[in-house]
Amino acid sequence: MTGKITLFWFRQDLRIADNPALFEAAQNGAVMPIYILDTDTYKIGAASQWWLHHSLNALNKSLENTLNVYVGSARSIIFEILQKNTVHAVYWNRCYDPQRIAKDSLIKTELKNINIECKSFNGSLLWEPWEVLKNDKTHYKVFTPFYRECLQIKSPRHPLPKPEKLTLIKDVHNSTTLKSLELLPKINWHEQMQSCWKIGEYAAQSRLIEFLEDGLQGYKEDRNYPVKENVSRLSPHLHFGEISPNQVWHGAQGLRHDWAKDSDCFLSELGWREFSHSLLYHFSDLANENFQKKFNAFPWVKNPLYLKAWQTGQTGYPIVDAGMRELWQTGYMHNRVRMIVGSFLVKNLLQHWHHGRDWFWDCLVDADLANNSSGWQWIAGSGADASPYFRIFNPITQGEKFDPDGEYTRSFVPELSKLTNKFLFKPWLAPENVLRSAGVILGETYPPPIVDLTVSRNKALEAYKKL
Ligand code: FAD
Repeated sequence: MTGKITLFWFRQDLRIADNPALFEAAQNGAVMPIYILDTDTYKIGAASQWWLHHSLNALNKSLENTLNVYVGSARSIIFEILQKNTVHAVYWNRCYDPQRIAKDSLIKTELKNINIECKSFNGSLLWEPWEVLKNDKTHYKVFTPFYRECLQIKSPRHPLPKPEKLTLIKDVHNSTTLKSLELLPKINWHEQMQSCWKIGEYAAQSRLIEFLEDGLQGYKEDRNYPVKENVSRLSPHLHFGEISPNQVWHGAQGLRHDWAKDSDCFLSELGWREFSHSLLYHFSDLANENFQKKFNAFPWVKNPLYLKAWQTGQTGYPIVDAGMRELWQTGYMHNRVRMIVGSFLVKNLLQHWHHGRDWFWDCLVDADLANNSSGWQWIAGSGADASPYFRIFNPITQGEKFDPDGEYTRSFVPELSKLTNKFLFKPWLAPENVLRSAGVILGETYPPPIVDLTVSRNKALEAYKKL
C-alpha cells in the first residue's frame, strides 16, 4: 500500500462515533486501525477480558473487518508496524493511568524523533485532570468542590459524529487474529454473564436510550434499590469506551427540563467518575497505597476462610451473599450492594481492602483502575473524601431498607426464597418452625452468620481508634 496512512491506535475508546482521535485521523486520509493487547501494562481481570473480546469483535464488524489486532509490547509493535507500512502519523485517545501515561510519553518522543506526527486526544473524560485545580494549583481531594469547579470551568464538549468518510487499511504484515489474544475463559464460568449483556458501541447506545427513556426518571431515589431499573448499567460500556462520557452527559443533560433532580444526580455520578480519574492522575499509587497514610498502620486480619466465604457468597448475611453471587454470575454488582459487601469485608471481617480490590478486578466487567481503587479506598475509609471509618453498613437494615420485598436477595440466594420478609435478612433469628416451613436448615442449606455484627463492629471501631 502506498500513500500516506495515519495509524489509529484504539485504546479505551472502542467506538467510531464521538471518537476525537479517529475523527481527526479520518480527515487526513487513509486510516489503519489497530488494537494492541499491551503486555507492558497492568493485566486486566478475567471478566473484563471476556468483555474485551466481544467488544473488539463488535468493533471489527463495524470497521468491516479491518481492525488489526496485536499482542505484546505496544511500543515494539507500533515501531514494527511503522517499518512495514507508509505511516506518516500516529493518533490515539489518551489513557489517564500513570503507567500508560509514562509509556505513551516515551512512544510520543520516539515518534517525534523519527519525524512521525503523533497526536493524542481526550476521548474518555469530560474534563482534563490537569484543568481542574484549586486556586493554589493543587488537586482537589474532596468531591463537592471538585465537581463545582468542573461545572464552572466549562460545559463538556458536544459529541462528534462518526467520521463522514473512513478509508480503512489492513496491516497484512504484522496483525494477528482476535482469537489469538486468548481473551475468552478456558473454563466455562461465563455462560450466565453472556445472557446479561449486549456488548459493543451499538449496544451501548441502545442502553443509553433505554435508560434515558425508562430509568432516569426517579434515578435520585431509586438508584439505591438494586431490584429497580433506575441505574444505567453503562459502566462497562463507559470503561471500554464503547460510549463516551460526553454522549452520556449530553443525553441526560437534554432531559434536565423534565427531571432536573434526577438528571443532576445522574450527572454528578459521572462527576464521581471524573473525580476518581483525577485522583488516580494526581496520586499515581491510588490502586495500592492508602491515600490517607494513617491507614498504613491499620491492623488488618489475615483469614483466608473469611475471604473465601465472602468471595463465594457464603457469609450467612443474605444481602452480602446476594451481591457476591450477582458479581460472580453477571460480572456486575449494583452500587448500593458494592458498598454493603465492601463495608462487610473491610470492617466486619477486617480484611485488607486490597483483597476486595483484587476480587472485583477479576470479576467485574466494568473493572476500572480509577473507579475500583477509589471505590475501595472510599469504603475502607482510607481514601480521599472517603466514607468516615465509623460508618459501618449494617447488612440487616440495609437489606430491609433497600430490598424491602427481598426480590433481589431471593433471586441470587434461592435457598432462602421461601423465607418470610421478616427473617430474610436475619435467618438465624427465625424460629425453628419458620425455617422448617421455608426449607431452610442453617449450617446445611444456608450458612449461619460468619461473624456477629455487634462484636465485629466493635472490633473494627477499636482497631480504628488505635490508629
Ligand atoms: P449509574 O448509577 O448509572 O452511574 C452512571 C455512571 O457513573 C457509571 O456507569 C459510572 O461510570 C459512574 N459512576 C457511578 N457511580 C460512581 C462512583 N461511585 N464512582 C465512580 N464512578 C461512578 N465503577 C466502575 O465503573 N468500575 C469499578 O471497578 C468500580 N468499582 C467499585 C468498587 C467499589 C467498592 C465501589 C463502592 C464502587 C465501585 N464503582 C466502580 C462505582 C459504582 O459502583 C459503579 O460505577 C456503578 O455501580 C456502575 O453502575 P451503573 O453504570 O448502573 O451506574
